[in-house]
Amino acid sequence: MTFKTILITGGSRGIGAATAMLAAQQGYAVCINYAANAAAAQAVCDAILASGGQAFAVQGDVALEADVLRLFAAIDAQWGRLDALVNNAGVLEQQMSLATMSAARLQRVFATNVIGTMLCAREAVNRMSTANGKNGGAIINVSSVAARLGAPKQYVDYASSKGAVDSFTYGLAQEVAALGIRVNAVAPGIIDTDIHASGGDPQRVARIGSGLPMQRAGTADEVAQAIMWLISDAASYVNGSVLDVAGGR
Ligand code: NAP
Repeated sequence: MTFKTILITGGSRGIGAATAMLAAQQGYAVCINYAANAAAAQAVCDAILASGGQAFAVQGDVALEADVLRLFAAIDAQWGRLDALVNNAGVLEQQMSLATMSAARLQRVFATNVIGTMLCAREAVNRMSTANGKNGGAIINVSSVAARLGAPKQYVDYASSKGAVDSFTYGLAQEVAALGIRVNAVAPGIIDTDIHASGGDPQRVARIGSGLPMQRAGTADEVAQAIMWLISDAASYVNGSVLDVAGGR
């Protein structure tokens, strides 16, 4: 097999969908994971197939270990190899102060953003490691500048989960560097996707965008470009880095 393969969690919409399209343009066969929106995932697959690329979609909640195992089993069956993983699936919930956050919410946010990222990385490492006779690979975790800004009175839970993603990136990068695997993260700022509506603030991009240093929000494609650069051989000595894609914020 001559083509390279990539798994993008949460590839059905937003930054994940833009990364899926760009990866396909660069010749990757793409596995698009999604949680619930099968139509959106299929639309990304169809667009890739229509332009002559390779793609398939797999439903699976990255917070659930059984779903993660099923997702990677599907990749094993389809390709028998994995060259790149983008841990993009992430959630936030309604804006509020910590004072009113339920324990169930904290567990949901950490289950997807942190445990999901770690479970998918574990499965990817086992399929990339030169110690297992594989070819190495690249893992990109999608963090957020919220990790350093803290998101007070909005979602300190989400910001803290992204802080954990940064720590995980630093640690795993060192753990697997000698196994042929590079691990990096991107930290987007305000990017124009559906996620802001999930926080109950669909106008957030329009409201905050013009006040940012570059006087605009970013696009999903601008984040996808950074992700694919980190995966590429052009970034062959970049490891354990968190790259802000935030317009200077
Ligand atoms: P989005 O438009 O809301 O899309 C989220 C994607 O993640 C969807 O494909 C969704 O699938 C999937 N997903 C959610 N929970 C999942 C789960 N448990 N298992 C599998 N897939 C799941 O979000 P986005 O703005 O593109 O964000 C992507 C990543 O960038 C997230 O990690 C987010 O925290 C990070 N980020 C975004 C911004 C921003 O301003 N947009 C800024 C900083 C960081 P369905 O379609 O099935 O729901």
